[in-house]
Amino acid sequence: IFGPKRRNSRGVNLNIRSHFYPLMDDMATFMEKAYLAKPLLAFDVADDALNTHTVTSPFDRHQTVGHVQWTTQEQTAKALDAAWAAFPRWDATPVAERAAILRRLADLMETHMAELMTLCSREGGKLLTDGVDEIKEAVDFCRYYAMRAEDIFGEPIELPGPTGESNRLMMGGKGVFAAISPWNFPVAIFCGQVVAAAVAGNTVLAKPAEQTSIVAHRVIELLYEAGMPRDVVQLLPGDGPTVGSVLTSAPRVTGVVFTGGTDTAQIINRALAARENAPLPTLIAETGGMNAMIVDSTALPEQVVVDVIQSAFQSAGQRCSALRVLYLQDDVADRVIEILKGAMNELRVGDPRYLGTDVGPVIDEDARKNLQAHIETLKGENRLIAETPLSAEQTQDGTFIAPAAFQIDSMNALTREQFGPILHIVRYKTKELDHVIDDINGRGYGLTFGVHSRNESFAADVAQKIRAGNVYINRNIIGAVVGVQPFGGQGLSGTGPKAGGPNYLLRFATEKTVTNNT
Ligand code: GLU
Repeated sequence: IFGPKRRNSRGVNLNIRSHFYPLMDDMATFMEKAYLAKPLLAFDVADDALNTHTVTSPFDRHQTVGHVQWTTQEQTAKALDAAWAAFPRWDATPVAERAAILRRLADLMETHMAELMTLCSREGGKLLTDGVDEIKEAVDFCRYYAMRAEDIFGEPIELPGPTGESNRLMMGGKGVFAAISPWNFPVAIFCGQVVAAAVAGNTVLAKPAEQTSIVAHRVIELLYEAGMPRDVVQLLPGDGPTVGSVLTSAPRVTGVVFTGGTDTAQIINRALAARENAPLPTLIAETGGMNAMIVDSTALPEQVVVDVIQSAFQSAGQRCSALRVLYLQDDVADRVIEILKGAMNELRVGDPRYLGTDVGPVIDEDARKNLQAHIETLKGENRLIAETPLSAEQTQDGTFIAPAAFQIDSMNALTREQFGPILHIVRYKTKELDHVIDDINGRGYGLTFGVHSRNESFAADVAQKIRAGNVYINRNIIGAVVGVQPFGGQGLSGTGPKAGGPNYLLRFATEKTVTNNT
């Protein structure tokens, strides 16, 4: 399963990841297991054979991971009743108890690391290394939000009472939250949304991405084992039109936390706004990006290439934070492109369960087709700079896309975000820098951005001018760390709240001022 050791042309071992060895025996068990995921609701649900969907692996359509029963509209409505009824009790539960459940979940996810990362790979097509990072991130979310919740929801804030009254500001939950999560971080983002909403005192209806319901199901089973009441967090696997649209049009849903495409966020926003007799909703959305990096002539080409490879191709480019457009100053462009070509030639695309693999599959056939169409268009215009070779034998049964780099004239040549391992390169002259910055800001996205330069004032100036949620100087632009690099964008990239940041839980909270003149 874990593949042969891989050596480069000088015989040096690449990708030795010895920290996996203790996990390998455990992982082998979960590589074969057939799973069944069902809605996990406050009430029992009967088996529903008609509603069962088969899940296969993105890297091999002949391998079945298991089956998922999708939630019906009636079950969704009943789950909402249960969540609504549970809210006052849960909101009144001391925050220390709520936080303790998150800490227990963190411990359980660490104990079940081998299973969860194996599922990320089998169901989501993720590399095992990405799987480890993902579970660690979910664990971090739990512990960080537990700590923040105790600070924010613990004691009321005493305010001045100049006329003899006492004034207290109390923090509480808002009500019922729908958590709609993506397949690209099926544990980290899924878990982060759910635990943030719940620890703030809300009840939660979680709809995982259709493609990754099985691993989400395992996380919620562990959450129940950690002590979460079944009516506080419920899992509703299903598709957008059935489950998602019921949740976003229901008047008793107080808020939606969503990560996914900008188009879908706009649909959700409209559905929430169209509800009659409903409270004004909260929408916490983290959406797409058209992320750029500017490299000036003082940058170190070797470091640039390492960071570009990670930013554009790690996780097969399927991160909101991934690099899409690289701006290279003319004097350094040839050198960077030469090294980049060599590095791209060394990448290995294939089965994500092999430790020697660098780039796994994209999530499904729809994704592959869309990316392929974009690639064909750019190739037709003779814009190809480099493309990683694909081994037909290793990739024939899955949805693989070879990492590719294309030269384009400006970011404006791109009509939409290409969510895969495709890098676009623009050459610029120093005198054109202001235009470059205007182009990047003008697209209206604002998620991640990178600048590479050894001229500190240049880097600081560019970083200041670019409107983006996460700006990285002289490093890669992915992998924001919980509690260290709060993550989230602005404009078309999201409503602004920063996951893993000190203020995130405030977005899930209401504030009540109690004035007492007794
Ligand atoms: N937080 C992730 C990162 O910094 C990206 C999340 C996403 O793709 O939605 O790479």
